[in-house]
Amino acid sequence: MSQPGIPASGGASTGLQAQNGAASASGSPYTNGPVQNALMSSQVSVSQGYNSQLPGSYPHLIPAKTLNPVSGQSNSGGSQTVSPLSNYQRPGQAPYGPPVASHPGTPSLRSGPSPQMPLPTSQNPAATPMPSGSFLPGASVPSPSNWQYNYLSQTNHCPRASSQPTMTGNTNLMSPQYVSSGDSSLQNNFIKSGSALPLANPPLPTTFQPGAPLGPPPTGGPPPVRALAPQKLTPRTVPQPSFNSTSNQEGFWSYKFNGSMFTLFLATSQPTNKNPTMSRSVGYSYPSLPPGYQNTTPPSTTGTGIPLSSLNYPSGPQAFTQTPLGANHLTASMSGLSLHPEGLRVINLLQERNMLPSTPLQPPVPNLHEDIQKLNCNPELFRCTLTSIPQTQALLNKAKLPLGLLLHPFKDLVQLPVVTSSTIVRCRSCRTYINPFVSFLDQRRWKCNLCYRVNDVPEEFMYNPLTRVYGEPHRRPEVQNATIEFMAPSEYMLRPPQPPVYLFVFDVSHNAIETGYLNSVCQSLLDNLDLLPGNTRTKIGFITFDSTIHFYSLQEGLSQPQMLIVSDIEDVFIPMPENLLVNLNESKELVQDLLKTLPQMFTKTLETQSALGPALQAAFKLMSPTGGRMSVFQTQLPTLGVGALKPREEPNQRSSAKEIHLTPSTDFYKKLALDCSGQQVAVDLFLLSGQYSDLASLGCISRYSAGSVYYYPSYHHQHNPVQVQKLQKELQRYLTRKIGFEAVMRIRCTKGLSIHTFHGNFFVRSTDLLSLPNVNPDAGYAVQMSVEESLTDTQLVSFQSALLYTSSKGERRIRVHTLCLPVVSTLNEVFLGADVQAISGLLANMAVDRSVTASLSDARDALVNAVIDSLSAYRSSALSNQQSGLMVPFSLRLFPLFVLALLKQKSFQTGTNARLDERIFAMCQVKNQPLVYLMLTTHPSLYRVDNLSDEGAISINDRTIPQPPILQLSVEKLSRDGAFLMDAGSVLMLWVGRNCGQNFLSQVLGVENYALIPQTMTDLPELDTPESARTIAFISWLREQRPFYPILYVIRDESPMKANFLQNMVEDRTESALSYYEFLLHIQQQVNK
Ligand SMILES: [Zn+2]
Repeated sequence: MSQPGIPASGGASTGLQAQNGAASASGSPYTNGPVQNALMSSQVSVSQGYNSQLPGSYPHLIPAKTLNPVSGQSNSGGSQTVSPLSNYQRPGQAPYGPPVASHPGTPSLRSGPSPQMPLPTSQNPAATPMPSGSFLPGASVPSPSNWQYNYLSQTNHCPRASSQPTMTGNTNLMSPQYVSSGDSSLQNNFIKSGSALPLANPPLPTTFQPGAPLGPPPTGGPPPVRALAPQKLTPRTVPQPSFNSTSNQEGFWSYKFNGSMFTLFLATSQPTNKNPTMSRSVGYSYPSLPPGYQNTTPPSTTGTGIPLSSLNYPSGPQAFTQTPLGANHLTASMSGLSLHPEGLRVINLLQERNMLPSTPLQPPVPNLHEDIQKLNCNPELFRCTLTSIPQTQALLNKAKLPLGLLLHPFKDLVQLPVVTSSTIVRCRSCRTYINPFVSFLDQRRWKCNLCYRVNDVPEEFMYNPLTRVYGEPHRRPEVQNATIEFMAPSEYMLRPPQPPVYLFVFDVSHNAIETGYLNSVCQSLLDNLDLLPGNTRTKIGFITFDSTIHFYSLQEGLSQPQMLIVSDIEDVFIPMPENLLVNLNESKELVQDLLKTLPQMFTKTLETQSALGPALQAAFKLMSPTGGRMSVFQTQLPTLGVGALKPREEPNQRSSAKEIHLTPSTDFYKKLALDCSGQQVAVDLFLLSGQYSDLASLGCISRYSAGSVYYYPSYHHQHNPVQVQKLQKELQRYLTRKIGFEAVMRIRCTKGLSIHTFHGNFFVRSTDLLSLPNVNPDAGYAVQMSVEESLTDTQLVSFQSALLYTSSKGERRIRVHTLCLPVVSTLNEVFLGADVQAISGLLANMAVDRSVTASLSDARDALVNAVIDSLSAYRSSALSNQQSGLMVPFSLRLFPLFVLALLKQKSFQTGTNARLDERIFAMCQVKNQPLVYLMLTTHPSLYRVDNLSDEGAISINDRTIPQPPILQLSVEKLSRDGAFLMDAGSVLMLWVGRNCGQNFLSQVLGVENYALIPQTMTDLPELDTPESARTIAFISWLREQRPFYPILYVIRDESPMKANFLQNMVEDRTESALSYYEFLLHIQQQVNK
């Protein structure tokens, strides 16, 4: 029998590293054979087809409007599109090399001269109708192709950027755009050890602290200041220095200048859920003035009220002392590492098996000068798999590690600088937003760090609102914060910002009523109705369906809601469209009436059929004019009308890695999702079903519309109370969290790098423009990149994501994150800077695609080969003396462990009886979750909790939170006289040993002896004992850190849940999977071949 967990030797293509291509041609020492050449060539042809179609079928989606038109940038559609067709090139592109000719498949997505921030052209439904038929191969979904590529490229081809939308059959998941980002460890980077550990919304790095923006410029001191000729002064409207602090609509404080050139305010964008006071404990007062505000002595003013300081500014360009970013900012290549000698260690994993740190793993810190690094983006928001970027694709190919970014762009932040300015300063060539990593040639000119164009500093930008000093462009908040939000002026809108629109679509078939979910959901809605993000424009509506579709008129003035039934599901129409989506404020009482009566209305129903497809069509029609969020609750397989599905799961094949249905059985849901995307509608799917519901097909409705999927298997209001609790908690978060509407996101990177594959829930509108009808703070994204042009002349590269969205208050805003990383020339440096969590997260995304496009076993092989290939590369190229054993660089010491954990993760495991929908859901999560949660579900954290103490505890809001060490996931670490808590992300399991101390049993569990622990226990009693307080504080703290609600199970030896607990013991052997040590031996054998 073949070894579980081990790829068949000589298997075909395996590696996941598409972009790294090179080596694995036949004859290479690696196990991945010559791979998919056939596929590659077919891809190329597809791409060609695609390219030719693009211009024709897509023009309406290409941003029609240019912000600040400048020659060379205006027709930016070209560089945004996936296909680097020559007819799409803009003049500005030329210098960067013709992407097209040389690599037919290469994504044009050059970071450099790229397009300006996309205007969501399709926002105006009238103006840019999204023809539903246009989503054809090629035309519409460029990105999918990319996805395929990932896996393919084991060859030397340059990253084929994948432009080629192979959209082969829309039915495959591969286009899935799912993602992850974030990271589990960032936390400590920004928090002193011993102090606070990761919070749900940890404070941003120091650069985000109130005082940061006032800090010294990245380099050099302030420019010499000279008095200016008075006459130059007069025309300038220098803002009055008087501040007024006001609380604005969003509930945060802003400090405005009276004057008006611009307004800068520090917004405290509070997470909507969780206790807002959390931030206080970590030192942020709310609202707080940055020290700069507090300490600045009131400027003496002239009679005119103009601050004296503003009189002193340099006239014209002059020598500017900012040290150029670059060599001076890089520590000598190895010297930075000398601070962490551990980092240089080479480890023999066969000898040092316990490499798991006892505290959360921290992301590596890029080897940058501290002046730059302190301005860098928080890795929670923006992270790269390689913190040292290889200078050529050849070098990247050698390393055999995937290059990509993981993003959590809309994460709730405790501190977020928000700038309102009449001018948003951007590169005139590539439209990059000015950021901390640009260089100022002098006071009047700055050089773009992405395309290197020299730009003028606009007049308004010369004034620093924080210091109230003129002539300090380099101290502006935009240049001092890697994460910042702009209030967008009107050029960023094609239509007035849309109102928040919420439509709820409820399954009310017999099966649905039987689960009792409607009660919970309606009650949650009633409880949170006033907390829905929005304003006086907020609209709400409801649709229910079984074999027919029911609408509810909530017109103001009615004495009660009116139900309208449409039984023609073949050709759905909307009765009285104007009264079905109503203003929440004006019709609140009717809405409340409806929510109170809805659960009772169908209690006697005998209707078992489900016309989900037609109901979704109706909901889409209703929302088309405005866009908004559609929340769909479904409890079974749809059986009637369009989108009806058939059962496909064969239980006896569940454990096999082959022949399982991971691809959609119809493209109906995907097509409808793309229609939704075109009208700025996102669909969130809540699946509450005990039976197979074909999530592989249904999930497409959310995947392509930028929605989310929630899954509550076996939901039942009586039989499964913990699911009820979970749904309630998660709904509360869902209903009240921040939301952005009609959003688009673009990621740019320094010239020479190229982004080619996107993971996450969205639709790729053009090359690199992600269409996000809704954006939520709990979604993560990932992208893969390649080095398209040598970076030998570059010491630093930057990545910038810009998310343009409409807030629930109707403001158009742009959230920008910029990450800066060093470029290196040796393989050793590449390995030293590897971020193993980000690599594992990206590989997981790639493996989901691979599972769908090829097979689960292929994906598993590819994961294993990713480890073998990179460690082989390290051994043969970077390791000087060939020792025996399994030698790994310190940075990758956990790589085999994390990959083994992925193989045992629900998405990729074999040999278990995992239900198909559960596996699909796990895959959805891989794609859509920020990295930090993905890592937790993959490699759970295990703690001993029967002896919690205050040693090393952190304090939050007067609560003391114990911080027990993290243990290896092996039964060796368990003992029968203890109690152990496993945090697996969405579930917490507390295993209590048979001989657990009496103290823990009575003081924490509240039972006299072991035998009295209830068979089913999902809550800890709150006892008046320090042990109870500590345990509950710890568990609550873990829960507070995530947007979903992990259920707690207390597990005794004989409990049925024990198998789940043991299943997560990644290092142990199971019936179907290798132990960690066996896995290491296998890797070693392959590496040393
Ligand atoms: Zn530029």
